[in-house]
Amino acid sequence: MAIKKFDFDVVVLGAGGAGCAAAITAARNGVSVALISKESIAMGNTRICEAEMTSSGISTGDSPDIIKEDMIKGGEYLNNLELVDLIATNASYAISFVESLGHFFRRDEEGRLSAKAANRLGGHSFHRSFISPGSGVSLAHALRNAIANTSSIAVFEDILATCLFQQGDEVQGTLAVDLKTSNCLVLRAKATILATGGCGWLYYPQTTNNRSATGDGYAIAFEAGAKLIDMEMVQFFPFAMNHPLHYAGTILEEPILAGPKGKLINGLGEIVVDRDINRMTRAQVTTLMAKEIAAGRITKWGGLKIDLSENLDIPEMIHYKKVNDERKRFEKVRLAYGENAFNWKEPWDVSPSAHYMMGGVKIDPEGRSSLKNLYAVGEVAGGAMGANRLGSTSVADIFIMGMGAGSESARCATRSENLEIKKSLIAEEVERVEGLFGKKGTRPPIKIKRELQQLMRENVGIVRDEKRLSYALSEIDRMQDEMENDMCTSDIRRYNTDFLDAVELMNMLTCAKMITTSAKMRNESRGAHLRLDFADKDDANWLKNIVIWKEDGQMRTLVSEITAIEIYEKAKKDDHHKRV
Ligand SMILES: Cc1cc2nc3c(=O)[nH]c(=O)nc-3n(C[C@H](O)[C@H](O)[C@H](O)COP(=O)(O)OP(=O)(O)OC[C@H]3O[C@@H](n4cnc5c(N)ncnc54)[C@H](O)[C@@H]3O)c2cc1C
Repeated sequence: MAIKKFDFDVVVLGAGGAGCAAAITAARNGVSVALISKESIAMGNTRICEAEMTSSGISTGDSPDIIKEDMIKGGEYLNNLELVDLIATNASYAISFVESLGHFFRRDEEGRLSAKAANRLGGHSFHRSFISPGSGVSLAHALRNAIANTSSIAVFEDILATCLFQQGDEVQGTLAVDLKTSNCLVLRAKATILATGGCGWLYYPQTTNNRSATGDGYAIAFEAGAKLIDMEMVQFFPFAMNHPLHYAGTILEEPILAGPKGKLINGLGEIVVDRDINRMTRAQVTTLMAKEIAAGRITKWGGLKIDLSENLDIPEMIHYKKVNDERKRFEKVRLAYGENAFNWKEPWDVSPSAHYMMGGVKIDPEGRSSLKNLYAVGEVAGGAMGANRLGSTSVADIFIMGMGAGSESARCATRSENLEIKKSLIAEEVERVEGLFGKKGTRPPIKIKRELQQLMRENVGIVRDEKRLSYALSEIDRMQDEMENDMCTSDIRRYNTDFLDAVELMNMLTCAKMITTSAKMRNESRGAHLRLDFADKDDANWLKNIVIWKEDGQMRTLVSEITAIEIYEKAKKDDHHKRV
């Protein structure tokens, strides 16, 4: 296996929205940048997203403080206060940054980005979520163009990062494998930015995510000893399709789809909720659905029915339908469920689908992780969204945090020197990677991957309890053992998908273990985390974050105090006054 070596000031791993924003900003600050992606540049979940983005300062009466409160209430108080503050304060700059690259948001009749052109999504107090007529496709196109036009960014496509090199707690760069040739690249850097996105693929096919969301960055950071936070908090998007199989998991719409008069109906034909679903957060709706699913009160397709017929009397909802029909947003409902369902004349099937990871690498407001020279941005970073993310906040987050870490890493890079990576570390990682080709066991990695996904859906998905979580942990250990001792892979050197599956599987197993371990610790239900055996929220004991990391070869955990305690206490006081 040939090894090529490169030196850069900043290396960015992952080229979705967060990675591209970080690379562009670092390059604008005068440093040399490498942008690495296991797919083409500007893919990932960023390319398939709706690109609806939270902005500040639009509706009269709205303010960054109110956005902050909404995000923290929606996140059920686990959010990191400083990160939320940064997002709430800078949301409008993220819009300007993206528009300066050539991706535009919907305007009102006067051509302005006003409240009239924005949605009010569940958990948001005001209309502040801007719709992207061109969705993620146009956003990705703009990002790709911007990268192509920045000469100081070296692009590495179809290149898979496998680890971080470090001396002590100082990160020195990465090893990556060129999937087209299977050659290894050693990329030395003064600063390394993780922007590898989420891990929704752990739940395939019950996921809205792109197939690249295999949690590589969480696993890479964990193996290097970085701290991660609240890994149990996996968000399920309430309204996704569940049949036929090729549509399973496909995203439909936020709770606003239900409008003021939409109903959710269980498999026994009973009404679960009949109004104001549109004002609920994703976690609130998913929890209602999960309880029916856990009790087996499900439709033939394993979900619930949504009945939108009464919204056909509401002018605002007729307008909503018209706008979305013009954009052909729900065409798949017509194709899969028929004309009457599409026209809201009869109820149709919906199921929750794994969508977003609130947990991730623990960072400070500059995107710095607990390891020196290592940054994390976008979905791979944790803390900003707490136990539940409000719609349209991720796209704001990826650009704000991406820009911030891009400039901060550039500033650090100009102050330091590239450090020599120990030859023994390189040899060890090359040997590990090389060992994944031509393995002679009996189990192809794709089979173990599918088994793991089923295990996660059934035991660590929207419904959890002690028994399921303990079973999942023992199965994850068994699969880890099987992968080490009985895996079979091809030895082909040109884009060996067995090799890609093997590396991703290893990362998925590590993520699965972090998610399950944290989920087993949190003996309460909060936000996206629903425990059947601890069905209530337990503020007295669990207004806490769970930190997880690797030390001396072992998984360690720690329970730490939340940072948004003042907002929690204020909300409690307001609630009390309302009740008196
Ligand atoms: C269907 C859908 C709709 C959504 N709509 C919205 C919305 O309207 N508004 C909103 O705010 N949020 C939305 N989201 C969420 C949001 O899109 C994502 O959270 C966000 O795009 C994540 O950006 P990212 O840059 O962190 O990761 P991604 O865009 O997923 O990019 C990660 C990149 O890292 C690469 N990568 C991963 N591992 C490696 C590795 N080992 N080596 C090299 N490269 C690697 C991947 O190939 C990928 O290109 C949506 C998500 C989905 C799935």
